[in-house]
Amino acid sequence: MSHNKNKSGRSKVIKSKNYSWEGIDKHQYKTKGTGFKDIHRYSLLTDDFPELNAHTRYFEIQAGGYSSLEFHRHPHSVIVLRGSGSVILENEIHEIGLHDLVFISPGTIHQFQADKNSPLGFLCIVDRYRDKPVLPDENLIEQRIKDPRIKVKIKKKS
Ligand code: MN
Repeated sequence: MSHNKNKSGRSKVIKSKNYSWEGIDKHQYKTKGTGFKDIHRYSLLTDDFPELNAHTRYFEIQAGGYSSLEFHRHPHSVIVLRGSGSVILENEIHEIGLHDLVFISPGTIHQFQADKNSPLGFLCIVDRYRDKPVLPDENLIEQRIKDPRIKVKIKKKS
């Protein structure tokens, strides 16, 4: 049996200070792969809370950084909590800022970019059981992303 203090099943409050949370470590965004820059992850309400069907994570991208260009079957519910930036939703690009919401539907190629000289921090809520992200190859990008403004904007795996 795990002795992790969060697995007791009790209701609780986890205090926050300055975009960090008591007892919750800052992690690498992903432990493998390329195509992302200056982004960190906090697993807020995830595996330590086995009762939950949704996992709530906080991602923060430093100015100039970006998340992977990726797609997957599971959807994302996103709420911006810090700063501003942009999100690419396949053939659309949107500027996003504090408290804006983003719904990313299954299969949409997406990427977050902190391109406004500011960090971009957001909550991202996902299903507990979900498929792994896929990084689109050049062919798929060519097929699916038609807008030349987006073609030049996306950051790809190296
Ligand atoms: Mn994703």
